[in-house]
Amino acid sequence: MQQLKMIPKVDRVLEWPAVRELLAGHPRALSLKAVRAVLDRLRAAALAGPLDPTLFSEAAVGAGVARELSCLSAPSLKRVINGSGIVIHTNLGRSILPEAARAALNSIAFCYSNLEFDLDAGVRGSRYSHVEALICELTGAEAAIVVNNNAAAVLLSLSALAAGREAVVSRGELVEIGGSFRIPDVMRLSGVTLKEVGTTNRTHARDYRDAVSAQTALFLKVHCSNFAVVGFTAEVGASELVALGAAAGVPVLADMGSGNLVDFAGLLPCDEPTVQEFVRAGVDVITFSGDKLLGGPQAGVIVGRKAFVEPMKKHPLLRALRMDKLTLAALEATLGLYRDRRTALSEVPTLSMLTAPYAELAARAKRIAKKLRGRLPQAVSLSFAEGFSQAGGGTLPLLNLPTLLIEVGVAGLSPNDVESRLRGAEVPVIGRISKGAFLLDPRTILDQDLDDLAAALAALGE
Ligand SMILES: *Cc1c(COP(=O)(O)O)cnc(C)c1O
Repeated sequence: MQQLKMIPKVDRVLEWPAVRELLAGHPRALSLKAVRAVLDRLRAAALAGPLDPTLFSEAAVGAGVARELSCLSAPSLKRVINGSGIVIHTNLGRSILPEAARAALNSIAFCYSNLEFDLDAGVRGSRYSHVEALICELTGAEAAIVVNNNAAAVLLSLSALAAGREAVVSRGELVEIGGSFRIPDVMRLSGVTLKEVGTTNRTHARDYRDAVSAQTALFLKVHCSNFAVVGFTAEVGASELVALGAAAGVPVLADMGSGNLVDFAGLLPCDEPTVQEFVRAGVDVITFSGDKLLGGPQAGVIVGRKAFVEPMKKHPLLRALRMDKLTLAALEATLGLYRDRRTALSEVPTLSMLTAPYAELAARAKRIAKKLRGRLPQAVSLSFAEGFSQAGGGTLPLLNLPTLLIEVGVAGLSPNDVESRLRGAEVPVIGRISKGAFLLDPRTILDQDLDDLAAALAALGE
């Protein structure tokens, strides 16, 4: 208790030369907050038990204030190193943008642009026009519009096509995507009545046919993005549903989820349909995400027949769901890479990471380990383990991609300790723990990460 008297007053701390210097570089209110926080902590510690008297010194308190200020002024949203091997990691920001998007963002973010100005005619233009032609060229669709994310794309499509009427959906496709996006809820929000047909595992053409009434506005098909139904199953494919719709005079809306534009045949062991296939099959309206397999910014893309997409451009909801100019710039740059399949596969990070062959990853793991080893203290050891990476982002849930993992062992620390220490590093490192080992997957570690990764691992030995 005696020590409480040793705690300096706030006003005095603010007069100390080292603290005055900090004050000069930070807003006064923030500096005050930092000083108070440091003194409050000191008081709590002094109450709990006797402290080393040097902790009350100008040097110790001043250093505490400097640390507190740098914490308070550091951005909350920051870069992390993804060593999880999950390529489309929703919690880590899904897809990272291709290099081509950097120039696009730079040229638009800090200047005025023709976002909604038609430079040819000198009149007001549409922000949606900048990517529509490109999306149509890539997908073969008649018309396109882009919004905030795929959830918004589904909401807008349902509202525009079926508000006040019924949409027929298979019970096997009433999915929850995560983050509380559930098909029945989105339907309710859109003012659409859900007409469930079939069963969880099997839905047949006759189920859709029998459900049609004067109230039917749509057949809705939802991609089972994040789970798989296996065993005794039956679903009505896109082409068959289009034929059923044509016979009944009912349009088909497909929420494709990931919406990949490249065929992965020969590259990945999966048969994920492409957007082009759905367009060719005659699906009237298709929605998909911009930041899943497409590998661009968070966005929702709607493609389809003009007759259905044009009215969406005038729908009152669109104003609330509209995409901002930075996203538009990044999306246009990403889509441009898809004009050439080889360019897309090599330049869109999501695609190059997903399709990286095992041999390349093994060589990469060894290269990373070699580079790190020279800089690590003795207590930190690196070894290799065979394993698998995942696509993530509710995409290709059954896909296990072979990789060579780097196992990080630290003398005196459990894998859980290693995990939490790396998570707390200046540039946080996110890995995973499997079978009692802390693992890093080279698939999602970027070249630019290596110095910070080395620094974080080196600090484990301290
Ligand atoms: C991911 C997904 C969504 C939601 O897309 P966001 O871009 O995250 O809004 C909707 N439907 C399906 C089938 C999905 O896979």
